[in-house]
Amino acid sequence: MILVKIRHEGLARWGVLAGETVLLIEGTPYESVVPSGETVPYDPAALLAPCDPTKIVCIGKNYYDHAVEFGEPVPETPTIFIKPATSLNDPFGEVEYPSCSQRVDFEGEFGFVIKKTAHKVRAEDAAEYILGYTCVNDVTARDIQKKDAQWTRGKGFDTFCPVGPAVETDFDPSSGARIRTWLNDELKQDSTTDNLMWDVPFLMEFITECMTLLPGDVVSTGTPVNVGPMQRGDTVRVRVDGIGDLINTVR
Ligand code: MG
Repeated sequence: MILVKIRHEGLARWGVLAGETVLLIEGTPYESVVPSGETVPYDPAALLAPCDPTKIVCIGKNYYDHAVEFGEPVPETPTIFIKPATSLNDPFGEVEYPSCSQRVDFEGEFGFVIKKTAHKVRAEDAAEYILGYTCVNDVTARDIQKKDAQWTRGKGFDTFCPVGPAVETDFDPSSGARIRTWLNDELKQDSTTDNLMWDVPFLMEFITECMTLLPGDVVSTGTPVNVGPMQRGDTVRVRVDGIGDLINTVR
């Protein structure tokens, strides 16, 4: 099932994508998916980020080739950080280049959206807490990230977390789906979702040992090698095969 969040008559509504039509549902999909009987045409420009995060939890280095990309040691446990909910950006939304940065990078990732309150979850139970999977661009002001001891500012600007275009509830990252990022149609990142050093069940146990994840929260699993800079006017496309294309321009 492909879940989308879409603007309809001025309201944010959840729905199920069926071809070129969105079958709207009652409320949110976290407890159950109940069709409301309304349908709207699929309009990419009306899509909203398919989540309702109180926090966006990200993994810093989870692909070996990216972990060594900046010449730093490979961590022994996952490095986690939080992007504020205010950094959330819609599929096809514009990323705002901060005037205080001279180096803003794309980081194509896949993420998952939390379905129900998750506290001290065991790895083997992880799947029942996951609504489904989506694409994330963990936009990063690299110069600021390197200058500050904490990553909060470099990762936390408004618009720095495009998520979408949809949540695929049947996606299985262990299947090794291709994950790619293009900058202006030039392929930059190319890996598979089974290349994580720490897989999704491990991450669920690791994160929820520390903090409770709530319905609608997002976990982004880290980026493969070959992150790189974007300029104003650029278009970045993150594609996870089986989920869709997350496309954002920089202004
Ligand atoms: Mg990242």
